[in-house]
Amino acid sequence: MKLYKITKSNIDKKGRGLYATKNIKEGTRIIDYIGKIITKKQTEESQKFDNAKPIYLFNLNKKYDMDGDVSWNPARLINHSCSNNCDYNGTGLKLWVIAIKDIKKGEEITADYGFGYDEDYKQFPCKCRSKNCCGYIVRAESRWRINKKFSMGQKI
Ligand SMILES: [Zn+2]
Repeated sequence: MKLYKITKSNIDKKGRGLYATKNIKEGTRIIDYIGKIITKKQTEESQKFDNAKPIYLFNLNKKYDMDGDVSWNPARLINHSCSNNCDYNGTGLKLWVIAIKDIKKGEEITADYGFGYDEDYKQFPCKCRSKNCCGYIVRAESRWRINKKFSMGQKI
């Protein structure tokens, strides 16, 4: 039995997400993240990765990336949350999604997309509704910068 099922998401109202089909213990490998392995050169030359839309590109090593935006990769449907219960992990050219806390049956499986802080962050609004949500999809280490920017804005 799979640990997840694909159904309509509570976070991405227009899209789908993955939901736990049973209680999952912290540290459990839930699903492999699969896709096309492409060279950095292919990434650079492809219009698909111009950063103008959410992408599913993973940096595997100096030479290769993985393009997870393929229909046979259900893990691409995992939504971002600012209080994510899973994280991406991997070795060599393999990637998977691992639980970083205990997940209850019926909870949505979420990850931190890890988008960097840059000028474009506002094109990726976050709707996860966690207490610590900063309103945009950015990696945890960058989040304080955005919160700080907002609080500075409020003072003016
Ligand atoms: Zn959020």
